[in-house]
Amino acid sequence: MIPWRSSPAQEEVSVTAMETTSAAATPGVETKPAQLVIRDLHASVEGKEILRGVDLTVTQGETHALMGPNGSGKSTLANVIMGHPKYVVTKGEVLFKGHNILELSADKRARMGIFLAFQYPSAVPGVTVANFLRRAVEAKREGYDPAANNEATGQVSKRKGMPPSEFRKLINEKMKILKVDQSFINRYLNEGFSGGEKKRAEILQMAMLEPSMAILDETDSGLDIDALRVVSEGVNALRGPRMGVLIITHYQRILNYITPDVVHVMHKGRIIKTGGSDFALELEKKGYEWLIGPEAAEEE
Ligand code: ADP
Ligand code: MG
Repeated sequence: MIPWRSSPAQEEVSVTAMETTSAAATPGVETKPAQLVIRDLHASVEGKEILRGVDLTVTQGETHALMGPNGSGKSTLANVIMGHPKYVVTKGEVLFKGHNILELSADKRARMGIFLAFQYPSAVPGVTVANFLRRAVEAKREGYDPAANNEATGQVSKRKGMPPSEFRKLINEKMKILKVDQSFINRYLNEGFSGGEKKRAEILQMAMLEPSMAILDETDSGLDIDALRVVSEGVNALRGPRMGVLIITHYQRILNYITPDVVHVMHKGRIIKTGGSDFALELEKKGYEWLIGPEAAEEE
């Protein structure tokens, strides 16, 4: 018998009180897990409809894999979530933490806690990995709350500086988790980086930003075994209750290293099948043909 739990009504009251207190005590800490909700999303590029009704929900703490043959619209979906201006949403919605993000700039989406994997230019001469990460962390810390409607004032909020000691502590912690060498962060970002090193910079950025939702499109990167290892070890080291992951790939092999909770297959701009981690193994054995027909699978 737990006397203080004898009445369900009482329990309800105490839970509410607890949530209120914890939210008040630690501002910015969400009591509910963050969710990325995509509903009936249609999007076009250069007048051609690519996404034709995508429904997908990823909750903080879950790892989802989005798979499917080439040309099915996976990268388009990533670009739309990220707010790439070339892609025009014609119908449907994308919500994050309950807010429609389609009207927001990529920068604001990032500051809300979405990790945008190809946010940075491919090479930044004269900017070291460490300096780049410091700026990215400072911008993220500024945050963005769409409910606050703080743009109405016309004032641009000041970037929050970060004491060097705090930054050093954070980056050292992340470098340790990801087994990154000190010399790596002193190099110029992406200058002469191998595929694996580019991925290492990307994963380190993800670790530093501590996003509640990370979207990684691994299809076009020609992932060699080194890069594959960096991405999968990084994601595995960082995944946990505070991060949702949407990993986009048509290589089943990455899922030998990262076990997803949910696997989706996209075809012709729609998610045509969703399953658990076993589903990835099934796809590895059987390919896509049984799902989408032999001709479509051959186009791959
Ligand atoms: P996936 O990532 O699944 O291979 P994509 O989203 O890259 O698929 O492409 C889906 C379709 O959209 C393809 O037919 C592709 O040619 C077209 N597409 C994607 N991006 C563009 C673009 N920027 N300009 C023109 N066509 C595009
Ligand atoms: Mg792609």
